[in-house]
Amino acid sequence: MKPYRLIRLCALGCLLGGGAVDAVAQYSFTPSPSAAARRIARSEAPFARPLGEVLDEAAARFGVRIDCRDFAPDTCLLRYADARVRPYSLDETLDNLLRPLDLKWERQGAKIRVRPYEYHRRTDDDGEKLLAWLASQYADSVAWERRAAEVREDARHILRLEPFLRGAVADPTVKLGAVERHDGYTTQNYALETLPGLYVCGTIYAPETRGRHPLIVSPAGHWPEGRYRPDQQYRMATFARMGAVAVDLDIVAWGESEQQLGIEAHHAPYAMQLQVLWSKLVTDWILRTRDDLDPQRMAATGGSGGATHTLLLALVDGRFAVLAPVVHLVSHFDGGCPCESGRPIAWAAGGSCTTELLAAVMAPKPVLTVSDGGDWTHTYPSLEYPYLRRIWSFYGKTDAVENAHFADERHDYGVNKRAAVYRFFAEQLGLDAAAVDESKVSIRPAEALCSFTQGWPAGAIRSAAELERILDKLQ
Ligand SMILES: [Zn+2]
Repeated sequence: MKPYRLIRLCALGCLLGGGAVDAVAQYSFTPSPSAAARRIARSEAPFARPLGEVLDEAAARFGVRIDCRDFAPDTCLLRYADARVRPYSLDETLDNLLRPLDLKWERQGAKIRVRPYEYHRRTDDDGEKLLAWLASQYADSVAWERRAAEVREDARHILRLEPFLRGAVADPTVKLGAVERHDGYTTQNYALETLPGLYVCGTIYAPETRGRHPLIVSPAGHWPEGRYRPDQQYRMATFARMGAVAVDLDIVAWGESEQQLGIEAHHAPYAMQLQVLWSKLVTDWILRTRDDLDPQRMAATGGSGGATHTLLLALVDGRFAVLAPVVHLVSHFDGGCPCESGRPIAWAAGGSCTTELLAAVMAPKPVLTVSDGGDWTHTYPSLEYPYLRRIWSFYGKTDAVENAHFADERHDYGVNKRAAVYRFFAEQLGLDAAAVDESKVSIRPAEALCSFTQGWPAGAIRSAAELERILDKLQ
């Protein structure tokens, strides 16, 4: 007999990648069983079988392939396993086998995919029911504003940003790179000290024209290459060619930040607060130090996780007049990365979602949401967008919230999505739409967009452990 691991509640939670699994506790054998548990084990252990074995039999019985790549099914011991099989129904069999272990299943083409419960991913139906319930809470602007204030306040409370703001360096060290000239715009790298010895790095894309310009802040998403990838360079440089000062920034422990902290810091509990702190401090710093900005025309945009951080920036800084979150912020998906949903703000005010939070932060200001048919935003035209339009209609500004949907596209901030955002920002910020020409943009290697290629300055944090000692003092 294989030496099956004795499963405890928390141990299985780790094996399965998180989430409490109350249901399995009653089926488990603990390392120090009580007398009652020992009696149960003696009398019923023969009926317990490893899940992997039972799933293999189910796959053969029903002629399907069952994929459990996200966990090790043979580490799960399931009592009364055979009693749960329904020979006439694959669906019922899988439900009976998997639900007690907090596992879920779905059909993916010809195979069955089994996964641990994911707190951040719900079904489209869940999203529809949630939006319907939320919409029933308010029928006019008065009721909506009462709810919106509650959602904003609770989301800020859940985020717990204050200790991080208190710990921010009052007189930060700033490293500014040389101003590089390109076709119709300039670039300048920056590194801004945030907490003591901790830098956020990014690039400022600026127009060559004089006068006061709109500001566009763009937190990066989780895509490989971070803010160095070509689609972000096209976008930021084109914003500048159109007449805006556009500034981007690394996400925590990504890009140059990864060199300072190591990638593990991106998955730490503090990643979300740190990311919001960075977006806020970069915004404050650039407004404080440049005299060519118009604070009445501030916008933010980002794709995927960058959309979450666009929303979070607007949540903590009410000066943003225009927002363009791209391929994210739906009613049934919260991101799942600690930097996006480690603090569960989407559950604010007794039950919410990022769609409602977007409305609470922005209605009735201009917002463009961009979605596609190839990711979780495929529901946008039928679910989230009508919900948002109804809230904007309370103010007689239904047309101020827009949706550009690309049914045949996948999860990216690609050329068609960028074109939609160029048009929207041109209209809302008074930018020059005729200047949109991505062929004029110089795509530069990652090193050319970094600040510390020659090494880190004295006093710079060089590990997540160093950062965590600073954070411990802030709490
Ligand atoms: Zn993340």
